[in-house]
Amino acid sequence: MRIGAHVDPASPLEEATARGAEAVQFFLTDPQGYKTPKPREDAEALRASEVDVYIHAPYIVNVASPNNRIRIPSRKLLVAHAKAAAELGAKGLIVHGGHVGKGEDLAAGFDNWRKAFEYAEKDGGLPLPILIENTAGGDNACARRFDDLARLWEAVGSFGAGFCLDTCHAYAGGEDLVGIVDRVKAITGRIDLIHANDSKGGFDSGQDRHDNLGNGKIDPDLIVAAIRAAGAPAVVETPGGTEGQTADIALLRERTGR
Ligand SMILES: [Zn+2]
Repeated sequence: MRIGAHVDPASPLEEATARGAEAVQFFLTDPQGYKTPKPREDAEALRASEVDVYIHAPYIVNVASPNNRIRIPSRKLLVAHAKAAAELGAKGLIVHGGHVGKGEDLAAGFDNWRKAFEYAEKDGGLPLPILIENTAGGDNACARRFDDLARLWEAVGSFGAGFCLDTCHAYAGGEDLVGIVDRVKAITGRIDLIHANDSKGGFDSGQDRHDNLGNGKIDPDLIVAAIRAAGAPAVVETPGGTEGQTADIALLRERTGR
């Protein structure tokens, strides 16, 4: 059960050392762009490191979209990032649950998720686990409300999809953190990673605004309880740079007894 942080991609292993992190997560490209990742000079070092590596797919990846001009490049990008992440020995590629457009049927989004996995299988398969993350906002999201998550899992569960639970997104998305791990596991059967973030936005506000642990609206003990119940590694995606994240990691380590 490792605890780490989302860090700048320039020198992730140095960032890990600076924070006392046992895991790092980073982007391989600009999270707002459709760029294919380039090979990294530190690939060998990342593969050999004791630090667990997680890669976050760009935010603009939306394989659920009914719009061809978003969905098709998103699929390709997902596969490209999965291959590049596997080259680094990553434990998983985190990707947001995505959404359909206003007034569009979520059923199409779930079906598009299924097709994305089928597309990847035809392309030789995904070389590492895809961890679908719950999101905070919007009424058309595939993985905000857990009744929708259940429908998503009917579409993707058989492909071996993994799940990343973000505590800020759950809270701001309107899912109670008390007992959340049991509720998620009843749907997905697994939690592969926790994004341990406090929330600046209130319960069910739909706001994706991360905060340092104990600084926002969430009782940090609920985040600690979720990590313990899940028995999964945790990554903080919190502000404050090295100082802020080091404090968040220390808090989690102290209270989880790790
Ligand atoms: Zn997250």
